[in-house]
Amino acid sequence: MDDLRDLYQTVILDHNKAPRNFGSLEDHDRSANGHNPLCGDKLTLELKLDADERVTDLRFNGMGCAISTASASLMTEFARGKTKDEILATKERFHEMLTGNPNEESDTDDLGKLAVFGGVREFPARVKCATLSWHTMEAALADGESMATTE
Ligand code: ZN
Repeated sequence: MDDLRDLYQTVILDHNKAPRNFGSLEDHDRSANGHNPLCGDKLTLELKLDADERVTDLRFNGMGCAISTASASLMTEFARGKTKDEILATKERFHEMLTGNPNEESDTDDLGKLAVFGGVREFPARVKCATLSWHTMEAALADGESMATTE
């Protein structure tokens, strides 16, 4: 279990140091800003959708702690090529994983790499850092230009 924890930490540190899909997308269809006042994490998400509401390209930028940056990086990696419905269903699963009972093993096989954030549920103050990018994605998919906050 400790080895697994080390692996998870390595993935989170790697994505914080070298975030994927970081930057901006001039030619975007949707955007949203996210703010987690508890920690001070802020991010902007820009995405392009095709006619089937599938994310064809996306970027994020902003300033946040290691967990929020790594989560945004992994979220954008996951979301590329996925439909709105697929992304929203995974957001629910991700949120469940982070807010579930820490004493119960939850089945996270379907979350793939996103399961690296499972350990965050032991630190309730950091849960919003991990979920901020997903709330922001939901806001962007909902109506185009909007603001998401974890509060
Ligand atoms: Zn944070």
